[in-house]
Amino acid sequence: MQQLEALTKDALDLGGGIIALSASEAEAARQLQVCNACRYCEGFCAMFPAMTQRLMFEKADVHYLANLCHNCGACLHACQYAPPHEFAINVPQVMAQVRGQTYKDYAWPPALGKLYERNSLVLTLALAAGLALFLALAVAMGGGLWNSAVSGNFYNIFPHNLLVGLFAPVFLFALLALGMGLRHFLRDIGPATSGASATTPAALEATSAVLQLKYLDGGHGEGCNNEDDKFTLSRRRFHHLTFYGFMLCFAATSLATVYHYAFGWQAPYDLPSVPKILGTVGGVALMIGTAGLWYLHRRRHPLHGDLAQKPMDLGFIALLFLISASGLALWLGRATPAMALLLCLHLGAVMALFLTMPYSKFAHGFFRSAALLRYAVEKRQPKSALPGAD
Ligand code: SF4
Ligand code: SF4
Repeated sequence: MQQLEALTKDALDLGGGIIALSASEAEAARQLQVCNACRYCEGFCAMFPAMTQRLMFEKADVHYLANLCHNCGACLHACQYAPPHEFAINVPQVMAQVRGQTYKDYAWPPALGKLYERNSLVLTLALAAGLALFLALAVAMGGGLWNSAVSGNFYNIFPHNLLVGLFAPVFLFALLALGMGLRHFLRDIGPATSGASATTPAALEATSAVLQLKYLDGGHGEGCNNEDDKFTLSRRRFHHLTFYGFMLCFAATSLATVYHYAFGWQAPYDLPSVPKILGTVGGVALMIGTAGLWYLHRRRHPLHGDLAQKPMDLGFIALLFLISASGLALWLGRATPAMALLLCLHLGAVMALFLTMPYSKFAHGFFRSAALLRYAVEKRQPKSALPGAD
């Protein structure tokens, strides 16, 4: 083992001009050297085939590979060198640590990357600020928080233009910040992944892997490991419910915006309107998905992932659950005097999500999708052009 570490160090020294690795990146590079000699897990996910294309693991390689890992746990449970073996190989854990650093390093503007260090506090403060904003506005606008005169129409509490004025700038900034972070990430990992441009087949393959959560199937279709050696598809299914539930809610809001501006059809919409169907199905899926992910997360084996990121992961799941539950409660309670209170709760939670989007677990989907795209591009290059080809 010591010999292997010495060889790794020599290889890095020979590289000259290589950007210094952080502790977690260096540990990932060490483990990848062992895996590259072993290659037992080659069929488990995209990370291992991508690893075999390399002889050395520099900063960009490590960030790329870390974001290809879906933390399914399969390679930890299969590994003969996992702790307590002296090699102490725990790929899901070290990759999770590097991913955490990716989010921080590529946050935009860079100074706000620090928000990842105290993410649960940031989330709590954002939620408190969102709730305070809408509670104060409801009171200031004279309707109060317990009001039977609003007759099921939330625009009687907050006018449409006020809501657009509050949410649109925050949402657009979040998109800009995520886009800039992603741009810098791709700029760094692009040259490390052949530098070739994305083609349509590569983009389609990456999109399919994202939409199916292909690499949460453990490589054999039976799923991930969660608390023990047994395979389970639960994480993949709950993740799907969360993702598609969120997308349906987003589609409902986007369609409602089109109705409002293009056709002059004002909310509220009720069943069987398309926005209401999308919102209701999406809200229920999001609630079930996040409740399931919370349950599984609490039961996960402690060696999976990075324990330091647990508050961020659970906080994000809880916020999505609150958004879906309060949205459905708002719909069910729209004809009651509690509507204003429920609306404040829902809007405050959505505002907290928008405020923290570029500095929370939300970012993982963007970085993982970008890594999968580069993987689909890289694997299409001639083998002879890649340094670690067999
Ligand atoms: S995780 Fe373990 S078994 Fe899998 S390739 Fe690495 S060293 Fe080999
Ligand atoms: S934890 Fe799963 S996704 Fe991550 S490297 Fe191991 S097998 Fe691949």
